[in-house]
Amino acid sequence: MAETMSELETLLMQRSLTDPELQAKAAAAADFRILPDAIVIKIGGQSVIDRGRAAVYPLVDEIVAARKKHKLLIGTGAGTRARHLYSIAAQLGLPAGVLSQLGASVANQNAAMLGQLLAKYGISHVDGAGLSAVPLYLAEVNAVVFSGMPPYGLWTRPAPEGLIPPYRTDAGCFLVAEQFGCKAMIFVKDEEGLYTANPKTAKNAKFIRKISVDEMKARGLHDSILEFQMLDLLKEARHVRQVQVVNGLVAGNLTRALAGEHVGTIITAN
Ligand code: ADP
Ligand code: MG
Repeated sequence: MAETMSELETLLMQRSLTDPELQAKAAAAADFRILPDAIVIKIGGQSVIDRGRAAVYPLVDEIVAARKKHKLLIGTGAGTRARHLYSIAAQLGLPAGVLSQLGASVANQNAAMLGQLLAKYGISHVDGAGLSAVPLYLAEVNAVVFSGMPPYGLWTRPAPEGLIPPYRTDAGCFLVAEQFGCKAMIFVKDEEGLYTANPKTAKNAKFIRKISVDEMKARGLHDSILEFQMLDLLKEARHVRQVQVVNGLVAGNLTRALAGEHVGTIITAN
């Protein structure tokens, strides 16, 4: 049967799985977008959900209205409760994989709460963002809530330094958008977008409307409004080549961003 084997199959039988020729062949087929019409939004933990009702209720109203026009995958951040857990667990000497599990439990709590607020509109929250039920939810009610932490758990690859799990909810939500080949990724936080310095502490920080990953790194902004690891994920992405960060505390911003308007900071892969 050897003569009917595809070139790729032959290479796969004979070479290392990271062989350059094999990798090029494996990547040769056109990319397939699983959920090309869906948009992923991340509702920040510390920046939004931790502010409670004043921040969350208006966003729920915007989501309910927006899903008439858009298909929404709504991921949650973790935030202050996760930071509290990280500090206790780190002082107890526990490893990054355990901290990752603890952080995930907080993102789950936030997804559970958001899911309850959206329940009467038929919008459910799912454990993880497994493909099994998500397409059905999107087809039926145009929206679903998922927990933003990537499920690496105990198998988290530790950061070179420290114990904080390097891939958290910004990365988790982005990876959902990228793997599903979604149309857009919007981060809903509590600032207009990216500034030249943290606007919470630097009074004269200037707003940056659009920037690339490389420029962000060159300007020392790689560890600012998005998780550090997110930038490389974006740079290497096949489908989602830009993300927008918007201020969810301003009414209408999410709705406008979903409509494709540039309301916050757009970060591009190149
Ligand atoms: P999330 O709630 O999604 O986890 P974070 O709180 O982690 O969001 O990130 C948003 C925060 O990042 C903002 O509230 C802001 O204080 C901080 N931040 C740090 N550096 C910057 C910067 N250069 N521009 C904008 N925000 C920044
Ligand atoms: Mg964060």
